[in-house]
Amino acid sequence: MILVTNDDGVRSPGLRALAASLAELGQVVVVAPDRNRSAVGHALTLDHPLRAEEVKPQVYAVDGTPTDCVNLGIHGLIRQRPRLVVSGINRGSNVGDDITYSGTVCAALEASLMGLPAFAISLDSQRFDPSDLETAALFARQLAERILAQGLPQETFLNVNVPAGGCRGVMLTHQGKRRYGETVICKQDPRGKNYYWIGGSEIGFENSPGSDCNALADGKISITPLKTNMTHEAAFTELHPWPWNDLMVKT
Ligand code: MN
Repeated sequence: MILVTNDDGVRSPGLRALAASLAELGQVVVVAPDRNRSAVGHALTLDHPLRAEEVKPQVYAVDGTPTDCVNLGIHGLIRQRPRLVVSGINRGSNVGDDITYSGTVCAALEASLMGLPAFAISLDSQRFDPSDLETAALFARQLAERILAQGLPQETFLNVNVPAGGCRGVMLTHQGKRRYGETVICKQDPRGKNYYWIGGSEIGFENSPGSDCNALADGKISITPLKTNMTHEAAFTELHPWPWNDLMVKT
């Protein structure tokens, strides 16, 4: 059984295309948020109960986050370990600094924490052009087949991004760096109170050969292997000589 989720919500055409394509490989169960929960990251709902509605056979809509869906799906609804968890197809790419904001990527991260093979897949377009969706869905199926046959390296999950308008190849990439405009828009509501909107005006990405951003810019499918443990091993060398014990206030 393959578990499919996303962060755009259970009605997203991206989710439908992904689930339909993966169904060629065997049983697919969809457990997805009942509405758009993009950019909720790895949030887990702890302060209220969750409801799941089986909107179609084997398709559950949950009033929670993508991470809730993976958790609830595996431990509450399906009650078996899926052979693979796939999250997407997201509307818009998830590259560079997007990764930790992304509910799509963090659903795969959650599955990886549970020791399951997983990948997230996003389309680099806000429009779901049918031919782009088909490209992404077919790639997802081929990749899933490969992972089911061969597994993934230990503690690894994949972040897949598919360019729009045709593909010129596939590249293993590292996480790049996106640059956002540092804008917060401030306006007044009809009652004269200020409200704010975090900008998100994207001003490009740092040019870094071999990065996810560069691969998309070159029209290639980007595959970034990620791990859940964020320890920065290389930083130990520089931080080790710091006088850590002197920083501790003696009481
Ligand atoms: Mn999304």
